[in-house]
Amino acid sequence: MKQSELFLPTLREVPSDADIKSHQLLLRAGFIRQNASGIYSFLPLGKKVLQKVEAAVREEMNRAGSQEMMMPALQLADLWEESGRWQSYGPELMRLKDRHERSFALGATHEEVITSIIRDEIKSYKKLPLNLYQIQTKFRDEKRPRFGLLRGREFIMKDAYSFHHTQESLDETYETMKKAYSAIFERFKLNFRSVLADSGAIGGKDNHEFMVLSDIGEDWIAYSSESDFAANIEMAPVIDQYEMPEGEQLPIQAVDTRSARKIEEVAAELGCREDQIIKSLLFIADEKPVLVLVRGDHEVNEIKLKNVLDAEVLELASEDETAKWMGTAPGTIGPVNISGEISVIADTAVKYTKNAVCGANQESTHYINFNIDRDASAGKYADIRFIKEGDPSPDGSGTILFAKGIEVGHVFKLGKVYSEPMKAEFLDENGKNQTMIMGCYGIGVSRTLAAIAEENNDDKGLIWPLEVTPFDVHVIAVNSKNAEQAEAGEALYSQLKEAGFDCLYDDRPERAGVKFADADLIGIPVRITAGKKAGEGIVELKIRKTGESYELPVDDVLDAVK
Ligand code: ATP
Ligand code: MG
Ligand code: MG
Ligand code: MG
Repeated sequence: MKQSELFLPTLREVPSDADIKSHQLLLRAGFIRQNASGIYSFLPLGKKVLQKVEAAVREEMNRAGSQEMMMPALQLADLWEESGRWQSYGPELMRLKDRHERSFALGATHEEVITSIIRDEIKSYKKLPLNLYQIQTKFRDEKRPRFGLLRGREFIMKDAYSFHHTQESLDETYETMKKAYSAIFERFKLNFRSVLADSGAIGGKDNHEFMVLSDIGEDWIAYSSESDFAANIEMAPVIDQYEMPEGEQLPIQAVDTRSARKIEEVAAELGCREDQIIKSLLFIADEKPVLVLVRGDHEVNEIKLKNVLDAEVLELASEDETAKWMGTAPGTIGPVNISGEISVIADTAVKYTKNAVCGANQESTHYINFNIDRDASAGKYADIRFIKEGDPSPDGSGTILFAKGIEVGHVFKLGKVYSEPMKAEFLDENGKNQTMIMGCYGIGVSRTLAAIAEENNDDKGLIWPLEVTPFDVHVIAVNSKNAEQAEAGEALYSQLKEAGFDCLYDDRPERAGVKFADADLIGIPVRITAGKKAGEGIVELKIRKTGESYELPVDDVLDAVK
């Protein structure tokens, strides 16, 4: 491609509304443009990189036995009614009506659509397991779209869904997908970890996130210096905003919630003001629910506390229904009254205690390790310990480290969360009707692109890894008006193209300074410059990443770039 013909609007100034590197550089280097908050166009170079990210994802998904398909972005509300998510998903789901007043959603995710397809087509265990994926645009009306492609309202996701007749089959596919994900993020040379995670709005049980370790990440993870142990501290959402003096033990008491307690009552019992009761979480110890209230003086976690204090106490119909709602096994919960929002906390705390996961304080580097005394299960007390980076970790090997992470992928064991309400059933070996078991696996394709850009740049611009670079080689004729330089550039460009390299040739009648600055900004890994010595058949090769450069005869260029 000749640069004089390329639509590549670069900017000298740092855009004022972009506050992280990848966002600034993708705008400045002419890869993307914003159309509305959280909504972007990919310009030609951006689209090329996107296609390369997609290609790598596609290759590994295909290798792992997943089949590509494509589903509509426009989804009938009826399907979301069936799964129950039309009510539960909240304002992130973009909803609209057609001319006949029928309700639709713009796909935020595709569990409902795929489940409806599979339940209509698959009737026998003989056709299972199945693993299907698509790479497609998703819509989420994010509360805070930001950081460019990292958190958009319209973005590209690779989403895969698997269907099984046994749990073992799901377990197997889940492991295969985890391996494929590692292979994908390794290809992009990203510094990532797979971490235990909370399942959020999609539902289900076991799940892992793939986190790129990065200072601008929106999640905090705690991980072991030695073992594979790593967990998202989102798993302890009530705890992560609590400013805690190092080493301090807090008075904390647990109250049995078999009868729901009023906050003022508890405050009186604990001998503190109501506004000092700031944390409330429900966990299950010895199969009994226990509400823990921690007190202390500090700013309240606005949303959570509001929910804890203001929420109506809600009577749940049955113990098993409560268990299901909380994502735990039937029989693990006694009669209990809890408020709506606490359920999330409860679910989290359950996983938290089961996995002995850590919660980190976002501001300091402390994290909290829950030590549930067995006796606390009687509803008497529990102990919270604060530990800092470098302390032993929860699985007994190595010490704890903290890092911020960008969630680039997420794998879930959904179980029957969708197949049950949506009646995706099949006949087993004995001709018995059974409900399918599901998994789902997402990768933020456009987010991954931004994460790659975020991790690969310097003060001059982007530095693309080979796997996703928009062009393999950048040829520059320093002075396009100089016949020798223009000829050398032109010749190199043709040669490289012929040899199968995707080559960008800067043939523009611009000053050398402008050309070099643009080249550094765009970040193609190898640059060949035809300058003053072009007449003698000598050009310069420069590696964008290291800045290393040397002169070589034109005839050696092909060998050098191979
Ligand atoms: P987050 O916690 O960042 O909001 P999520 O957990 O809601 O993400 P999932 O439902 O797990 O996202 O979707 C699968 C993948 O899609 C995520 O791992 C992430 O890489 C990507 N993704 C989710 N939301 C966005 C977004 N708003 N913009 C870009 N990519 C996104
Ligand atoms: Mg989200
Ligand atoms: Mg998430
Ligand atoms: Mg997720």
